[in-house]
Amino acid sequence: MTRHYNFCAGPAALPAAVLERARDEMLDYRGRGLSVMEMSHRGEAFVAIAEQAEADLRELLAVPDNYHVLFTQGGASLQFSAVPYNLLGHGGRANFLHTGIWSKKAIAEARHLFGDVHVAASSEENGHSAVPRQEDIVLSDDAAYLHYTANETIGGLEFDYIPGSVEGGLRRSDGTEVPLVCDMSSSILSGPIDVSRFGVIYAGAQKNIGPAGLVVVIVRDDLLDRARADMPTLFGYRELAEAGSMINTPATYSWYLAGLVFDWLKGDIGGLASMDALNTRKASRLYAAIDNSALYANPVTLRNRSRMNVPFVLADPRLDRDFLAEAEAAGLLNLKGHRSVGGMRASLYNAVPEDAVEALIAFMADFEKRRG
Ligand code: PMP
Repeated sequence: MTRHYNFCAGPAALPAAVLERARDEMLDYRGRGLSVMEMSHRGEAFVAIAEQAEADLRELLAVPDNYHVLFTQGGASLQFSAVPYNLLGHGGRANFLHTGIWSKKAIAEARHLFGDVHVAASSEENGHSAVPRQEDIVLSDDAAYLHYTANETIGGLEFDYIPGSVEGGLRRSDGTEVPLVCDMSSSILSGPIDVSRFGVIYAGAQKNIGPAGLVVVIVRDDLLDRARADMPTLFGYRELAEAGSMINTPATYSWYLAGLVFDWLKGDIGGLASMDALNTRKASRLYAAIDNSALYANPVTLRNRSRMNVPFVLADPRLDRDFLAEAEAAGLLNLKGHRSVGGMRASLYNAVPEDAVEALIAFMADFEKRRG
């Protein structure tokens, strides 16, 4: 058996140790004589798995007690609808930071559902090569929340700050607090964060959490009473919280695997501070290789370069096809950039080992020497 190095943007690489454990527990979960996939979600064994996963995630992110952790479904994209349904019940407008393709999709969905939205700042003018500065964010007087995308997975653009002030958060001109909503799909668990700065954090699982089919939502409890009356029940944060994320059948196997990933982060990695250091090292090495070459280039300003997704182009795009074919033959998979932008993209999520980055850098240098 050979496991290649996988740079996919999602569904992404999972830690080998996690897959091995899942394999060992596949047919007979800890002496129970059945697989986790075959268990009742309301049975004692699965409820224990679910509760442990939540406890471990809470520990990793130091989630304060006044936040609920939900394990739901529908992809991160469903949260583009669920967030406005949950937070616009008291009126007001959704505010957004526009920094690339994923935030644009979130904006489009809120607009489609509820009409007017306010774009509080945008990086469109600079081609999404630098995020808006804090002082350029202008909330509307009727802002119900501010939504942003911490890491734009396609553009490789990552915020180097959390919008709002540490003491006061975000405020409307009349002083009302404006909850901060963050799509953290492609950067959650890449390092420690201060959860108390956020009203809602959501993340699709298929990058740093586990397999697709699961979405984690972390929501402050005072925001549970702001839902619109016409909201579909399954979107509801209050409904999910009260039902322990089991209004209906949850994505049980993905939830279980997420639990194994959390356990791996705590045990094998040693927590998010260690993960953070490792991620910085991996990304710095790849960016240095790109910056020191004449063939490869990345357009993002230094302070906003994503640690998780490293897009790059070749000086001569006619070489793209050979680059990808040769990379794949060398066991370096999924380096093709998103279909909307072309070029290359190496995603360096938590489960991508440093060896993979080293192998990629060596391949890139060799390709440049031969073809550059
Ligand atoms: N937001 C971000 C930042 C993403 O990277 C993605 C998926 N690549 C999504 C949202 C959409 O996720 P899903 O496919 O789970 O709906």
